[in-house]
Amino acid sequence: MLIDLMTSHSSTLLQHRPFIRYEAQYGIVICLTCNQGYQAGSIRRHLVEKHGIAYKVYHPVLQSFEQQYPLSLAQSWKSISLPVDRSVSIEGLRILPGYHCGKCGLKTTNDNTVKKHQKKCSRLNQVSLQCWNVTKDNRYWVVLSTPTALAESAFASHGLPSF
Ligand SMILES: [Zn+2]
Ligand SMILES: [Zn+2]
Repeated sequence: MLIDLMTSHSSTLLQHRPFIRYEAQYGIVICLTCNQGYQAGSIRRHLVEKHGIAYKVYHPVLQSFEQQYPLSLAQSWKSISLPVDRSVSIEGLRILPGYHCGKCGLKTTNDNTVKKHQKKCSRLNQVSLQCWNVTKDNRYWVVLSTPTALAESAFASHGLPSF
């Protein structure tokens, strides 16, 4: 197996072909293959079980993240904060088409939720969303990546009563 043949060169190799990146401000590691974020406990399991990456390969990389930045890896999903709405998208994470309710703030990618919600609030805007991990933590924030989102942002920044 390729991984077993990796020697001390591996950390150098990985610098040239990074497989994860650290979002230092939030303490979350992003898998660049899956385009999902992981906190301290789940990143190790993810790399081993999903990608077969050995401890001796990923450990020095995670260690370097922790040494390089003051904030260490987040220990739980709940402790991870979210970027503010209308941020520039986080590199390496999926960008999902979704909806943002201008009245109550609901953010969702689920069409059924949208259909039900339209009866309650009628201010749903089509936006691009990101979340740290679509299966483990689907708290969304709005990102600037589509003309719709940009237009919405320009609208908001002019101080017009949008919300
Ligand atoms: Zn992955
Ligand atoms: Zn609403």
